[in-house]
Amino acid sequence: MRRSTRDGTEPGAVGSFQRYMEHGPPAIAVTRGAGHTLEFANQSFRRLTRVTAADIGRPIAGSVRGRPASGLVATLDHVFRSGAVARDVSMADDGDGVKQWRCTVWPQLDASDRPERLVIELWESRQADLTLALQREVAERMLLSALRERDATEKAEASSRRATYLAAEGRRLAESLEVAVTQRAVAQLALPSLAAWCIVDVFDSRGAMHRLRIVHPDAVKQVALRELEGRWSPEPSDPFGLPAALRHDAPTLIEAGQVDAALAAGAHGPEALKFLQAIDIGALLTVPLVVRGTLLGAVTFVSDGRDDNFTEEDIALAQELAVRSAIALDSAKMHGDALSLKALAETASRAKTTFLGTMSHELRTPLNAIGGYVDLILLGVRGPVTPAQEIDLGRIRSNQRHLLGLITDLLNFVQLGSGRVSYDITDVVVPDAISSAVSLVDALIVQRGLICEVCDDDDGLVARADAEKLQQILINLLSNAVKFTPSGGRIEVGCSATETTVHIRVVDSGIGIPAEKLDAIFDPFVQVKEGFAGRDTGIGLGLAISRDLARAMEGDLTVESELDLGSRFTIVLPRANRTTATS
Ligand code: ADP
Repeated sequence: MRRSTRDGTEPGAVGSFQRYMEHGPPAIAVTRGAGHTLEFANQSFRRLTRVTAADIGRPIAGSVRGRPASGLVATLDHVFRSGAVARDVSMADDGDGVKQWRCTVWPQLDASDRPERLVIELWESRQADLTLALQREVAERMLLSALRERDATEKAEASSRRATYLAAEGRRLAESLEVAVTQRAVAQLALPSLAAWCIVDVFDSRGAMHRLRIVHPDAVKQVALRELEGRWSPEPSDPFGLPAALRHDAPTLIEAGQVDAALAAGAHGPEALKFLQAIDIGALLTVPLVVRGTLLGAVTFVSDGRDDNFTEEDIALAQELAVRSAIALDSAKMHGDALSLKALAETASRAKTTFLGTMSHELRTPLNAIGGYVDLILLGVRGPVTPAQEIDLGRIRSNQRHLLGLITDLLNFVQLGSGRVSYDITDVVVPDAISSAVSLVDALIVQRGLICEVCDDDDGLVARADAEKLQQILINLLSNAVKFTPSGGRIEVGCSATETTVHIRVVDSGIGIPAEKLDAIFDPFVQVKEGFAGRDTGIGLGLAISRDLARAMEGDLTVESELDLGSRFTIVLPRANRTTATS
């Protein structure tokens, strides 16, 4: 609400201008509105018209003394109606007949070009010499520009105050992503102009209307309001609050004069009404809390003064605050929902991991038994084995191994995810590790008709690693190279180093991997397509396990590949300080 001072004093540049005008020779006054309320009258004007400081704020008609003011008021009326300047108008004088008043009146127009104020210069006709005319012209320009400046300054200051307030409230509302904390922040909303506090209604999780705890800035009134907690809920016919917002999605204004009736209707009983009457409730303004087209609740601003009403600026500010509050409440709710979903997903994932772990463990035992009995039969322990039986038993054995491999992968993966894997990091001579891994897949390489080259480019290279885990990675990469390289192709294994890292490469001239899959192949259960030897393929866990193992040893596993030309996998490991000769 705007409050102006009765003596018309203004701050800043306008103030110093007024000081000059106050004591300058031209008799100047300013009136406001169609009733010509006197806003300002300088010393000369007061002397001439016998207007006093007490007349400021009153209509000029009753204030100008000593001479009839009717001529002056008629001129003012004319200028106010027409919006045109009246210059050098002479007025009838029923006084001594010697001196005559003359005046010039300028209208000051508002934004829609209607006169808002009038600036009056008054003089006695015999004074109308050239010097004064000049002074008048200068005064005219200065006065009009000062008035314009004052209005512009007021508007700029008001909008800057509003922007600062909104920014601060926006920050306060966005401080937390917890629903309860954000709701408390919304309940503390206020409109500074009317010292207004607020009542906040929201829909609860079951869709029922719920009134949040009311926060009153006055501690004594807060005690009275606490009595209402849990007892005063919104009801569909309420004239304010969420029920009003549900009926129409625009702001609902209940002016000071209608508040008693509104409270009687919205209190739902004499007891609550008694408490509400005790805390001096003024005008009410309900604004809906809407986000993405959904009504989340409503804020009802309550004016503290019994007679104050909300202005258009108050309503605009309340709506801005409601938008910010609705966004804050919505973000907090979405964050809460996301956390619940994450917790659900984690629980489901834990259950799945436990299931996989138990199942793979349980499957390994009978599978090992199958392998053992096949070996016993093959050894002839149960009697002689015919050549045809031997071939079949061989097939059983190779399928049993394949199944065991898949289950071992699953078990490894589950164990890695649960963090139950321990690492024995030592100095590992890399060429030895390569030779040992190659020897384990050698038979497969030969069987597939592939050429394998082991480069001894850095003979004594030593890495810091868990020897067994490095073996596991190498065997997995070599098996993949074999699986995905057509007969006659090449596989190359070698190592190199930087000052701090060792790089072991497994390169093949196989089918390659499409560029868009290069990242995905390290995700569990991802396979580009079935390998060359269909039934030999795994379940898409080998690379996921290998990269986890490499990373756990403070290294990494990377890939470069070109479709139809081949792939190059690189294991990166920390380099040991020493370099040994191959033992
Ligand atoms: P799998 O045990 O199924 O081979 P991996 O995790 O080891 O699972 O590999 C995932 C997928 O990455 C494979 O199914 C294959 O599509 C692709 N891949 C892995 N190594 C190679 C390679 N050397 N050449 C071409 N594709 C490969």
